[in-house]
Amino acid sequence: MSTPPKIASPKFSEKLCSHCGLCMGDAWPAEETLRSCVFNTGWLGSHEERIFGRTRDLQDDDEIAFGIARRRFYGQLKQPVEGAQWGGIITRLALRALETGLVQGVITLHGTMLQPKAVLARTPDEVLRGRGNKPVLSPTLTALHDAWKQGIKQLLVIGAPCHVHAIRDFHASNPQLQDLELYVVGIPCTDNLEAAHLRWVLELVSDSPDTITCMEFMQDYRVHIRHKTGRTEKIPFFCLPPDVMRPGVFADSCMSCFDYINSLADITVGYFGAPFSHDWKRQWLILRTEKGERLFDLISGEIDISPEVRRGDAGRSVRAGLETTIEPVLHPELVAHRKQLPRIAGNLLCLIARFSGPFGTEFARYSVHIHALRNYVFVRKHYPERFQVLVPSHIHELALRYGLVENESPQRTDI
Ligand SMILES: Cc1cc2nc3c(=O)[nH]c(=O)nc-3n(C[C@H](O)[C@H](O)[C@H](O)COP(=O)(O)OP(=O)(O)OC[C@H]3O[C@@H](n4cnc5c(N)ncnc54)[C@H](O)[C@@H]3O)c2cc1C
Ligand code: SF4
Ligand code: SF4
Repeated sequence: MSTPPKIASPKFSEKLCSHCGLCMGDAWPAEETLRSCVFNTGWLGSHEERIFGRTRDLQDDDEIAFGIARRRFYGQLKQPVEGAQWGGIITRLALRALETGLVQGVITLHGTMLQPKAVLARTPDEVLRGRGNKPVLSPTLTALHDAWKQGIKQLLVIGAPCHVHAIRDFHASNPQLQDLELYVVGIPCTDNLEAAHLRWVLELVSDSPDTITCMEFMQDYRVHIRHKTGRTEKIPFFCLPPDVMRPGVFADSCMSCFDYINSLADITVGYFGAPFSHDWKRQWLILRTEKGERLFDLISGEIDISPEVRRGDAGRSVRAGLETTIEPVLHPELVAHRKQLPRIAGNLLCLIARFSGPFGTEFARYSVHIHALRNYVFVRKHYPERFQVLVPSHIHELALRYGLVENESPQRTDI
């Protein structure tokens, strides 16, 4: 009897793996799925051109930060979805897509905050159970294997940017999937981590880690941590323990991620481009494609919308914070010597930042830029052999503008 051909195993031991799930199922051999891994293809690649007919305009500051879009605005569901992360626009979109027959299944996540489980939801109840964030690396795309095996022809995928890149590439390159009608709802995503690392961070920052239900990095420059008791802890970014910045806390995959804003989705639904809303209900929508418009139409009668607002100068704030942000990447040995700012001083800095710093959509531009620049430095230092493949051209443009490229800026030639 001949021995079966050896299949390349998934690269779970690889540090550049966000556990997206694409090579973790059994419908296709890992050799095939790994070709679409974003850490092999790089961010954006030719997909922007394929999906939008062009690449983003490097003269357009908003396009550099937020990707190509037909329109962007704020939205708030008149009747929010209880238990959702924010107002629940994503869950409502997915419910309507299933109920109206636009799709036969929805790829989402069940499980807990620390133990997400990928599912192919086929009923409204299964879609509803997917609501809420799982702020850890999540194997969403294992459910694509189930969708294929069940013969699904119209599919909605809800994913972080690494999921969206992998499925876009696999869908475009795999002849077996050519008749699959794919709809993609994206969440913005940055600084994600392994479940064990999240547990460690929560224990470090919270006074009651066991009662936490969810957390967000907010536009008021504080981390908000919600508890089962209804209490919300608010910790200024500036007061986080320096240990959180240590290399290795956030996954290397996430430090090598260059699409915070999920620019290959049909529609991106986030919050950080909208002014801070105390009830966590106002969301930020970026409609990118005709399919994104079709998805939005499903809920347009259920939502109040308003135009974007912005104030301040993202560039100035990025320049002010860049040195501190990239120092732990360049000189991790100095993290131990960093002092934790007292809460009173941190709260004061938050107040100043809220009134004089970037606001609304400008806050999102600041956040996208500073994360992208930090990751640019990280990849150049730790994965120089992958630098050219991973980093898309608009990030090189940003690095140039902020003086991170050697010989372009005398003041930063140490980087
Ligand atoms: C790690 C992480 C970081 C984020 N950072 C930002 C940010 O900086 N700025 C911003 O505007 N938004 C960010 N988001 C997205 C934001 O928190 C909300 O998920 C989004 O605004 C949708 O809210 P909603 O109420 O419509 O979602 P819901 O209706 O509650 O639906 C959420 C959907 O997202 C899916 N989901 C949850 N966790 C994950 C995950 N880890 N990977 C893939 N899919 C997942 C769920 O299965 C569900 O389908 C982040 C999300 C995550 C998981
Ligand atoms: S990121 Fe996804 S496709 Fe790439 S190795 Fe990890 S699980 Fe596999
Ligand atoms: S930060 Fe990037 S690589 Fe990490 S989980 Fe989010 S999208 Fe994936």
